[in-house]
Amino acid sequence: MKILFATSNPHKVEEVAAILSPHGITVQSLSDLDVVPPEPVEDSDTFEGNARLKAVGYAAATGMRCLADDSGLEVDALDGDPGVHSARFAGAKGDRSARDAANNAKLMGLINDVPENNRTARFVCAMCLSDPCGTIVAETRGTFEGVITTEPRGKNGFGYDPLLYLPDRDCTSAELSSEEKNARSHRGAAVRSIAAKLF
Ligand code: IMP
Repeated sequence: MKILFATSNPHKVEEVAAILSPHGITVQSLSDLDVVPPEPVEDSDTFEGNARLKAVGYAAATGMRCLADDSGLEVDALDGDPGVHSARFAGAKGDRSARDAANNAKLMGLINDVPENNRTARFVCAMCLSDPCGTIVAETRGTFEGVITTEPRGKNGFGYDPLLYLPDRDCTSAELSSEEKNARSHRGAAVRSIAAKLF
């Protein structure tokens, strides 16, 4: 089976392909398409709503079975922010690493005075698989719990990974290998639930 994963983020593609390819599913990303359809407007205020918009929109535009995710970081002391606005939190322009750096700096500034025992947070990932005709084949959600660190650490992964501290491992998400991150991440959990619904 071949599916389109509606992202051009190579980190996400690697995470999802590692889990689906042992099931015989070939994962293509937007970067593999000759013509990339226009991005559907992600105007839902929930992760689930945005994942559905992307899956249905790209499936209809390409005629392929399409998997889409919407993910982000919820910080309890910030009432769940940045949430669905995680990717564009600081409003910075530039490439992905420039935007990630600006987002991380903004978050560290906002949470600076919050005591350690009140810095709980989680990555959330909603996933949706749609047929080309718009039928939703599966919808799932995964979470990845941690605590916002006081000092960013680690070079692996992307986005807010250097900020999510995992007390049981005494490291951040950006210090996990990709195998370790896949085993416990929000995206790993969501895509394993998709696979469980398919097989
Ligand atoms: P999306 O691409 O619209 O789902 O936006 C997700 C945003 O949430 C990313 O740009 C990151 O800032 C953040 N995010 C989602 N998943 C992760 C992760 O696994 N590690 C770090 N940041 C993440």
